[in-house]
Amino acid sequence: MVLVAGVGFYWRHVGDMLERDATSQITLAGNETAESFERAIAADQRIVDTIAITVQQNYPWRSRAGLERFLRLQVKYNEFENLGIIPLHGGEVISAKPGLTDRAWLQEILLRGLEEDTFVSARQTDPLGGPEVFVQAASLHNGEEPVGVLFALIPTKRYQSSLKLTSVGDGRVFVVARDGRVEASSSASQDTNIFTTLAQAKFARPNSLESVRKQIQEGKTTFVRYQLNGSPRLLYGMALKINNWYLLSVLPTDFIQAQAQHLTWLSLALFACICLLFGVLLAYMFRLREYSNRQLFNTAFVDSLTGAYNLNRMADIFPQRLRELPENAALALFDILKFKVINDMLGYERGNVVLKQVAFLLRGNLMPGECFCRSTADNFLLLLSYKDRRELRTRLSGLATLIRRNCTVSDSCIMVDGAFGVYELKEPIPFYIALDRAHLALDNAKHSSTDTIQFYDEKDRHRIVRERQLENTMEQSLEAGDFTVELQPKFDFQTGQMKGAEALVRWKQTARGLVRPDDFIPLFEKNGFILRLDMFILQRVARLLSCWKEQGKQQVPVAVNFSRLHLNDSRYISQMLRTLEAYGVSPELIEVELTESVILNNWELAQSVIRGLHNRGFSVAMDDFGSGYSSLNVLKSLQFDTIKLDKEFLSGCEQDATARRVIQGAVEMIKSVGATIVAEGVETAEQAEFLRKIGCDLAQGYYFSRPLATEEFEQLLSQQNK
Ligand code: C2E
Ligand code: CA
Ligand code: CA
Repeated sequence: MVLVAGVGFYWRHVGDMLERDATSQITLAGNETAESFERAIAADQRIVDTIAITVQQNYPWRSRAGLERFLRLQVKYNEFENLGIIPLHGGEVISAKPGLTDRAWLQEILLRGLEEDTFVSARQTDPLGGPEVFVQAASLHNGEEPVGVLFALIPTKRYQSSLKLTSVGDGRVFVVARDGRVEASSSASQDTNIFTTLAQAKFARPNSLESVRKQIQEGKTTFVRYQLNGSPRLLYGMALKINNWYLLSVLPTDFIQAQAQHLTWLSLALFACICLLFGVLLAYMFRLREYSNRQLFNTAFVDSLTGAYNLNRMADIFPQRLRELPENAALALFDILKFKVINDMLGYERGNVVLKQVAFLLRGNLMPGECFCRSTADNFLLLLSYKDRRELRTRLSGLATLIRRNCTVSDSCIMVDGAFGVYELKEPIPFYIALDRAHLALDNAKHSSTDTIQFYDEKDRHRIVRERQLENTMEQSLEAGDFTVELQPKFDFQTGQMKGAEALVRWKQTARGLVRPDDFIPLFEKNGFILRLDMFILQRVARLLSCWKEQGKQQVPVAVNFSRLHLNDSRYISQMLRTLEAYGVSPELIEVELTESVILNNWELAQSVIRGLHNRGFSVAMDDFGSGYSSLNVLKSLQFDTIKLDKEFLSGCEQDATARRVIQGAVEMIKSVGATIVAEGVETAEQAEFLRKIGCDLAQGYYFSRPLATEEFEQLLSQQNK
């Protein structure tokens, strides 16, 4: 609709413009035509004047035959219709073509010729029956005295060419007298009076036939629009300098409509082309934008290695995908176990191949509505739908088997094993919290030797919360003296004498009372705080020993537990020495306890640290012997002063003869390298009796004494001295 209106408006506008253009053109062309017509008449007048001069010279025209010949020559030469001389004082007319006998006609010409310098008659037919002509005349003189008139009959057709409207299409021009009589025209016109023709015209307001007639009669410049036989015309009229004549230029303006239409179509076509071009450009831009958006999307949301979504994308789509899943939903976090080993041993390229394969297998095993992403280097997070835990477990273990079978790196024996941590989405919680919980379950799965598919348990979360609490207060507690030492005495199996003690840390928490080390040591090993705590305990032990010395009490050696983390600390031994020095305590009174597992995992490091400790005078004990797989060779080459049998060894040994034999074998082995044997966790008289019998040196356990507060221990020490 708007387009149609627009085209209509445009059409009209173009039409108006073209019409204005036509108006100014017809004005110009009309003026030019008038000039050229007047020039043509003047030129013919000049010819008549020139001939008149020759004729004058031959006055008194005795040689009639000679004159007639001359006139005939001039007629021919100038293409006149006739040329003649009318003598003023009677006598025959001398003319190129004879037979002019109309006296009245001759008389009028004679009079007008003498009166007017330039005489042009109205259009008339040649009196001798030739074509239509104008009569032009020049007076003839003998000296000052007029003697006659020379006249020429000039065919009106001769002016047709000067009346052509130059540069304006097929317009027509009329020279009319003020009464409308047509004197000459640009074509062989049938019109005799212009008003007769215009009487049939329909004039555009405010013009009318009358107004046009009036303007012509008054010789005013006219501009009129009218329609003749349905075709529009433009008429321009102006006065001529000859005979009060008037020049009318008529231009049919159909062509304006046609041109406007043509121009409009042309413009429309151009417009359409521009639109098309614009459209193509726009489409191209859209495609470009779409492409760059896709690129951007890929960079922002797709993992470039595997083509899987990345974690951001997963977080984005998680809420909606979760809503759309028909059954129960779970987040399963898959971790490739020992992926670092694959990278280290086979290179990143091969590692990448494994990741791609895993992604491929996971993608192929998704069900409708499920999705997955690569969340970190070797972790994939899956949003799965399931019926019950059993079914989900079966599905995940099937997936793990599939991955193991298909991803094992070719020409190497490295298996791609994985662990799953699963969080069942039973309550509406934010994505990242659900992910955290899946992580927690995965941590358990990674550390479990038996089951690598672990479901998140609320207890795990409580444990984590508890750990955070502990971490938040540990520094403060250390400064406030909330960590204390209990001493568990060790007794000689043979004499029953107390031979030493083990220092065991306790954490006095205002809210929870006394906290046992098993609840916080693993956490402190994770966050490194154990390094400071162990040194603190050593310092407390050193302080006790120096007190005992000052008070004249017996100084028994005290065993202090040290975490495996110290082995990597080059300042470890010097730090211990500084602490002991500060209290003037000799290293001989300190027994360093290192657990068996630490020693087996860092064989060479352990060896050098133990050597260093020996060199400084410390004695070294292997704690928890039997929890690992120490061999005789280990015992021999590490040269421990003491070996402590793990308390797990003893549990249930009363009823189990085999267990007893194993303990006996171990004791014999230790004896063979000359180390002191401490039996830990002795809880019953039977155990004590058995251990004593097989040759254990020292006993440590509830049967003999629980770990004691320092004051209690000091009492025990004093009693023994008495
Ligand atoms: P551990 O070094 O093997 O210490 C012996 C543990 O056995 C102590 O537990 C002790 O109370 C317990 N125990 C002693 N006799 C018996 C018994 O007859 N029956 C049973 N069931 N247990 C007995 P505690 O004090 O809870 O310490 C646990 C572990 O914490 C220690 O095991 C040691 O590995 C670690 N630990 C304790 N204090 C420190 C410390 O200052 N530094 C470091 N790094 N670790 C420490
Ligand atoms: Ca110990
Ligand atoms: Ca132990």
